[in-house]
Order: sequence, then structure tokens, then C-alpha cells
Amino acid sequence: MSEIMTPIPFDKLIYWMMEEYKSKQSVFGVKKEKFYKNGSEKRFQIFGRYIGSPIGAAAGPNTQLAQNLVAGYVAGLRFMELKTVQVMDGEEMRGCIERPCINMADEGYNCEWSTELTVGEAYAEYVKGWFALHIAAREFGISETPDFLFNMSVGYDYDGITSPKIDGFINNMSDAKDSRIFKECRKFLLASLDLFENIDAAYVKSIESGISASITLSTLHGCPPEEIERIARHFISVKKLHTFIKLNPTLLGYDAVRSLLDEMGYGYVMFDHRHFDADLKFVDAVVLIERLKKEADGIGLAFGVKLTNTFPVMIKRGELPGEFMYMSGKALYPLSIHVARKICLAFKGKLPVSFSGGADYYNVDKLVGAGIAPVTVATALLKPGGYARAKQMSEKVEKMVDGPFKGVDLEVLDKIAGTVAGDERYRKRTGAGRGRKLLSALPLYDCFAAPCRDTCPIGQQVPEYLALAAAGEYEKAFAVIALDNPLPAVTSEICSHACQDKCTRTDYDGPLEVRDAKNAVVRRAQESFLEKLAAPPLRSDKKAVVIGAGPAGIAAALYLRRNGVSVTVFERREQPLGVVRYLIPGFRVSEEALRMDFELAEKTGVQFVFGADEAYNISALKEKYDFMIIATGAWAKSACPVREGGENLMDALAFLEQSKACGCGMDLGRRVAVIGGGDVAMDCARTAKRSPGVRKVSVVYRRTREFMPAQEEEITLALREGIEFLELLSPVSYDGKTLTAEKMELGEAGPDGRRKPVSTGKTVRMPFDTVISAVGARVDTEAFRRGGLETGERGYAALDDSNRSSLAGVYIAGDCRLGAATIVQAAADSKAIAIDILKRLGLKNDFKRASVPLGLKEITERRGVLAEGKCGADKCLGCGQACEVCCEVCPNRANISIIAGGKPQILHMDGLCNECGNCATFCPHIGKPYKDKVTLFGDEEAFRNSENKGFVFLGGGKLLLRNENGEEFEGGEDDARISDEMRAMIRAVREEYRYLIV
Ligand code: SF4
Ligand code: SF4
Ligand code: SF4
Repeated sequence: MSEIMTPIPFDKLIYWMMEEYKSKQSVFGVKKEKFYKNGSEKRFQIFGRYIGSPIGAAAGPNTQLAQNLVAGYVAGLRFMELKTVQVMDGEEMRGCIERPCINMADEGYNCEWSTELTVGEAYAEYVKGWFALHIAAREFGISETPDFLFNMSVGYDYDGITSPKIDGFINNMSDAKDSRIFKECRKFLLASLDLFENIDAAYVKSIESGISASITLSTLHGCPPEEIERIARHFISVKKLHTFIKLNPTLLGYDAVRSLLDEMGYGYVMFDHRHFDADLKFVDAVVLIERLKKEADGIGLAFGVKLTNTFPVMIKRGELPGEFMYMSGKALYPLSIHVARKICLAFKGKLPVSFSGGADYYNVDKLVGAGIAPVTVATALLKPGGYARAKQMSEKVEKMVDGPFKGVDLEVLDKIAGTVAGDERYRKRTGAGRGRKLLSALPLYDCFAAPCRDTCPIGQQVPEYLALAAAGEYEKAFAVIALDNPLPAVTSEICSHACQDKCTRTDYDGPLEVRDAKNAVVRRAQESFLEKLAAPPLRSDKKAVVIGAGPAGIAAALYLRRNGVSVTVFERREQPLGVVRYLIPGFRVSEEALRMDFELAEKTGVQFVFGADEAYNISALKEKYDFMIIATGAWAKSACPVREGGENLMDALAFLEQSKACGCGMDLGRRVAVIGGGDVAMDCARTAKRSPGVRKVSVVYRRTREFMPAQEEEITLALREGIEFLELLSPVSYDGKTLTAEKMELGEAGPDGRRKPVSTGKTVRMPFDTVISAVGARVDTEAFRRGGLETGERGYAALDDSNRSSLAGVYIAGDCRLGAATIVQAAADSKAIAIDILKRLGLKNDFKRASVPLGLKEITERRGVLAEGKCGADKCLGCGQACEVCCEVCPNRANISIIAGGKPQILHMDGLCNECGNCATFCPHIGKPYKDKVTLFGDEEAFRNSENKGFVFLGGGKLLLRNENGEEFEGGEDDARISDEMRAMIRAVREEYRYLIV
């Protein structure tokens, strides 16, 4: 079964580590540039050892296998909290874990538990890791002396912990010298000194057999205080171990946890009272800790607490299989920090605290600065960037600790806890549930994708123009933008930027500010582009007409004219750009942008006729033109949810148009309500707020803020401008003075993952001078019928994939195609139409890929490095050139980027994978790298137990292989059934990556 991990034998582990280092300048995928070395004089002292950093790996997937420990160490982790062991292990444990078991899409969740290996195998991994880290430290010039620490983690009850299996584990970790694996590792290293440049026999012999002198106790939820104390006493008094006990966030109490999570946007996270009722209570915890600390102090051992365990919640939105999962990451951080404050206050800052609940680059310095150390991470390492993130964290705190624990600064900790709820980094991102996946299937080969480019409806070549912009080549960058984008200036100010929603950096520090980067290019280069622009010659005697000079109409006209087709645009109004000019508030889009983009079309040679109401006659125009594009927009009133209406009730579009025409000068009274949660609602609210005499504007929405369809930044801007959000209210009537709304509550999650608003049966009455209904504009579909077009669902014109209607040569684009959409979607409709028309005319279109590679050196430098502040063009990760996200996020190093046939490809290592699912979460395609990528199997049995395409080397030049068509066969490398791509990968492994054959 491919979910079973096969540990790498020690000799192969060392061979892999050294060969990869020598030939690829990386170790288990961590590039040499990302190795961390403490360059200061300062060292953290704990449990009698000096270590190179107070940052470490939390007990979990990153400390399960020896290679994980090595990857974490070279990148900067020094406090290794080894994956928990308990009596239930191996096959029995694996049987209890549903797959996938990790979901780190935003805040983290997992449903894994203790080690999936047997306790014996786990022990062997820790011993192998112990030796390998000693070798890595000196051989790679990281540290002359071992600057790391292994901390045991065991669970979960007294009987299990004192059983021969776990007791033997603890004894062997305390002193490994008599264990077979310890002897084997040492023997192998002594016999293989020629593999190394900086390791000699004396060094190998100096490697201590005391692998761990400390332990962290994990107990199950509901474990009674007496049991916890009994186990801890056993560790301290019998096993003589430095002891930390792991506490649960439930110490805060149900109400505090619920309100903190609700306040931070995690209202959808569901849990009940059961763990709060069953878990250790705060008063008991204090008494218990006092007693244990006294006992440990008495015999010179360290005692402290680990804060916190993950938080058990119900699975309600299909995050993982099963019923319960454990929450971690940014949603856990506020809980853990509040527990820390409570505990530290009770012990006046004198109790050592090790922290792990949602620690990341942005808070490690705060925690360490408050005197909390070590700080261990897991969720952060499972996000793109992976282990390489550790370097930045360790560098950040390098000079902050010197020597042992000196006490927790309560004032500093109080400040951290007091501000955490208001910190945007830990709040739920609005719209995060919409997901970052593209719609594309994951290809077996050549899978790298730039999510920004591939999700943009017009295929803006984002990484390419960002690379040019970062290099200061603005004119070239603008030319790349203008290749696909007919409205560069307008979209640089108000594009809904789907590119940013999918940006890989979202999982680092926040999406790259693509739109701002475009705006910087536009401001520097559009005028000069316009100066040089001239209408290209006509290449056809056919003529096109466009009805409507909104974004879709202008886009279609520009694309066609640029490619040599004569185009005339008829517009009913006096000015171009439709909704953008007439409705979108002037504080969002500038006159300058409108002018520049109109000029772009005009100078390209598009003819415009304004005030052409009579021209809106499909039959008449069809007589004169060969092609017609109808782009008349969505201007019909929305269906107002409020039953009664006074004259103070307005439709959003009418309001926005009138308000724009009079420069926000409308008399709306003092209190205004806007019904709706989309971008138009935000525009209305912000416009109303600017109107004279208006004191208060409230957005009334039937769900909660996190479920609003508006762009996150529009919501943020509205909030910043003082707009009130009245959530969970569904308006039912308005009499011109009082708005009556039904109070709602969030019910179960629907199929889209959004919790449904459910009526409580209660109503609320609120005084408003004006109510604006902003629940979506409609299309006047009657016009299609009058024009003789076949119509389909909801009266929209029936269209094919190229937006052709039932009338020959007549196309539909923009908001009138399927209702109000985004500007780029309107342009995309037109792009498809232009491509179709040009094809029919036998003309080649000029949409082409700009070849602007970002240097691989820059990409490597940027990987795993989180930014302070906003991310500009110089932070682009060049995903289309070097994705490798599946390699970074795999804790087990089971996805490897190799060069095969001159191209980068992803090779999946069957034996190292436990199907945790983490790579599937972050792969931009729909697909699972651990199932869908070419797989290298360790042996025939593993091959037979899998359906993955891939191969196993059988020896004697033979291979067992499953090809792209699912055909299984034995054969040589030249077998005709092997594709060139697969052959290139086989050759690459055999010749360049032999160390992967384990
Ligand atoms: S990091 Fe760059 S290439 Fe990757 S998605 Fe973001 S903008 Fe696009
Ligand atoms: S390859 Fe993917 S599923 Fe397998 S262990 Fe790695 S991250 Fe998990
Ligand atoms: S995550 Fe891996 S499999 Fe997915 S596109 Fe990136 S490199 Fe390919």
C-alpha cells in the first residue's frame, strides 16, 4: 500500500544526503542557500545543552522520519520534538488514520495522531536522524559541535507509558549505546569516512549515546489530572527526565474560545462542550504544575509546560474525512497565546513555557522576546516554502536568546495577547474558502503552472510582466500587459484580480500585489505606448460592428482592429466605458485611467459613434456588417428583497449613477442602509458615506462577513471607512423610515461549504432615511428575443463556446451574456470572439506568449522567505517556471524535482509517502501529486499495490513499469511502450539521481 512509509536504511540515507549535496547542492530538497548557521555568539541553553536556535519542529509529520529531521535541521530547526510514540503503533495505528490526514489550506487541520511506524521503527528513525544530524552539522559547515536537541514525546496514559514497549523506548533514547541500530549507524560511519570531507573517526566516536534526556507528555483529551500528575512524576522521579507537559487550549473555557474564534472570523469552526467538560481545568492545572515543578526542582531537572496541543473540532465542511479533526496554525495561535498569558500570570512568569500553537515567522520574535522558548513549528513548515522557512525564523531570533530560561516577561506577553484578535494575520481571510485551485487537471509531465496567469480570464502574463517590472523595464512590461489586456489602466485600478486570489504567495505572507504592480507599470509606460501607437493596416475587407462601448465592447473592437479588421462601435450614451464610467465611483477609478484606455482603442483605429440610440437595431446592423458583437451590459433593476417600498428606497445602479453624476452630492438623510454583500453593495456603502449629511451607513447582510461575495479588500476598505456591517439580518420590509429585518443564524454548511442562514423567527426594526438595494443587476433579455436570437435559460441568448449566437455572425459578450460579471471576464468573452472571427477570416491572431524568464537564482532566493509589508513585483516566485510546491510541502521528501530530458519534472517516491494529502492541497491543479505524478517504487510489491504510473528497477537492466495508458509490463529502457518522457525520467534517475533508488 502506498500509504505505508518505508524508512530509508541508514547507509542509503547517508549516501543520498551526501550524493545530493555534492551533485545538486541540496540536502533532501533543501537548497544549500537555505542552510542555516548561527553566525552569532549566542546560544540557547536548555536541558543542559546549548543549541543553535530556540526554533524547532513540533512533534508531528516533520519529525517522523530521519530524512525529515535532516531537512529541518539544515534549514534551521534545532529543538526536535520527535513524533509521539505510544503503545498503539504501526499497522494498528495506520488503520485508525483516515487519509488524507492533513489539510493546511489556511488555518491547519489534521486527523493524524502518533507515529505510524512501529515504536521500534520510530526509535530507529530517531537514532538514524541523530547520527545524520551530527554528520550534517560538521560536514556542511553548519556547526562544529552538535547544536541541536532531541526531545521525546510520548503518550497517552500511565499504563501505556510504563509498558515494556514504551519504557524500553524511553530507556533506549536515554542511552542508546547497547541498541543494535545505534551500533550499526556508528559502524557504518566509521567504515565510510571516505564519503566525507570534514568527518573523522574521532568525531563519529564522540557522538553521544544519550539521545534524549527530556520528554514532553501528551495526554488524551479527558485525561484526569491525577493521571497526568502520575505520569509526569514517573518521568521526573523514576526516569529522571526533564519534563514538559502539553496543555490543551480548552483551559480557556468554552465561552472564551468560542468568542475569540468568532471575533476572528472562524465562526464556521464547530465544536461543543464535551472536551471542555472533560479536559483538565485551569485550577487543577495550576495545583498540579506547582507540585510537579517542586519535585523537578528538587532533583535538578527542568519542568515546564508546552502550549498548546491542537484543538479538536468537528468536521463540517469536508476538510478531512471522519468526524473530528485537530485545528492548528493561525486560528490556534490566539488560543495558545491566551492560555500562555493565563498560565504565566498564575506562575508570575517563572514557569518555563515551550510554545507551538500556530507559531510562524511573524510571531517567533514576539514569543522569544517575551521569554518563551523553545518555539516549535509544524503548520508553517507544511505550507509552500516548507522546511526552508525555518532559516528565516531562526535568523530572526538568533540574537534574542543567550543562555537558559530567564523568565517570561508578563507585560510583553500581555501585550501580545491583547492585540492578537485585531491582527489581520490571524483572522480568517474573507474568500479563503473559494480555494486556490485552477480548473486544470494535473498533468503527468510538465506540470508547472503560474496560478495567476492560468486563472486570469484573459490570460494576463503576470509572472512575465512582473519580472520585467521588477527589473525596471516598464515599457516592455506594458507591452506584455497590453498583449492580452484591452483596458490596462482601468484594470490596474479596479480589476477584481483573480490572479491575486490564486497567488502562491497567499500561503506565504499574502498574495503578490499584482494589480498594484500593473498600476505602477501603467503609470510609467502607458502614455509613451500611446504616443507611439498607430492604427495597423486592415487585413480584411470584412467589417465588424460592436453594440455597446463598455469594457466588453471596447475589448472586442480593440482585439479585432489590432489584428486588421475594420470595427465600428455604436454606443447609446455619450461617453465610453459603460459601468466603469457611469457607475463605479470616482474614488475607485480615475478619469485618467478611463481616458488612457479609451485612447488605446481609438489610436488602434477603432471607430466610435456615441449617442447612437437608433443604432441598437440588430436586424438593421446585420445588413451592413459581416460580424456583430452585442455587448450592451446588465442595466436592469435588481429584484429588491424588501417587500414594501417608500420613495427612499433606491436601486443600486440608479443610486450609483446619480451619485457619480453629482459628485456624491445626493441628499440621503443621516442613516443609510445598503442591502447586499457584493462589490456593488460596497460601492454603494462607500459612496453613501461620502454624501453630505450622512452620519452612518450600514451594510445589511443575511450571512456573516466571511461569507460575503465581495472582494476582501473592498470589505476591508468599507470597514476602514467606518461602515457598519449588520450581519445575519435578512431585510423583509421598508416603509420609508423603518427597515424590518429577520434575525438569522448560521446553520449547517451547504454543499458549497458556506453555512446557510436560518431564520430565528425574530425580527428587528431599524430606522433608516434611505435604503439601497444592491443584490445584483439584471440583463434586459427581451432585447435578444426582439432581435430574433434564440434564447436559453433565464432568457439569455443561446451561445456556443466562442460566444456565437443562433444568428450567423452575431456574438454576445460581457455582462449581457450571463449577467453582471467582472471587467476581465467581459474582456475574456471578447477575446474568445476575436479569436473565432479572425480564424473564420483566415487571419492569424497576435496573442502570443512573451518569453521573459525569471532567473532560477532569484526564484530560489525568494522561496521560503516571507515578506514584511506588501509584496511587490520583486517577490514573484516564478511559479510557471519552477513550481515545486509539492516538493516543498511534503514533510517526508516524497516528491522530488528532477531534471529529465533537459526539463524539470516531478518524481514521486512511493516508499516515503503516507498519503497525508498535503501536496494535493497546494498543487495548483486539480489532482494529487502523490497519485498523479510519475512514481518511483522501491520494489515489485509496492508497485503491484499501487495504481500510479511509474517504474521500479528490477536489476539486470530490467524495469517493471506502468505507462501512461495503464499498461503494466517488464522490459528494458528501450521498450517501445515507454514514452519519451517516461524514458527520460528513468534515465535521469539511473544516471543522475541514483541515490533515489533506496
Ligand atoms: S508568485 Fe508570481 S507566478 Fe506565482 S502565482 Fe503569484 S504572481 Fe503568479
Ligand atoms: S507526497 Fe504528498 S501525500 Fe505523500 S507524504 Fe508527501 S505531502 Fe503527503
Ligand atoms: S505542486 Fe507539484 S505537481 Fe503540482 S504543479 Fe506544482 S510541481 Fe507540479
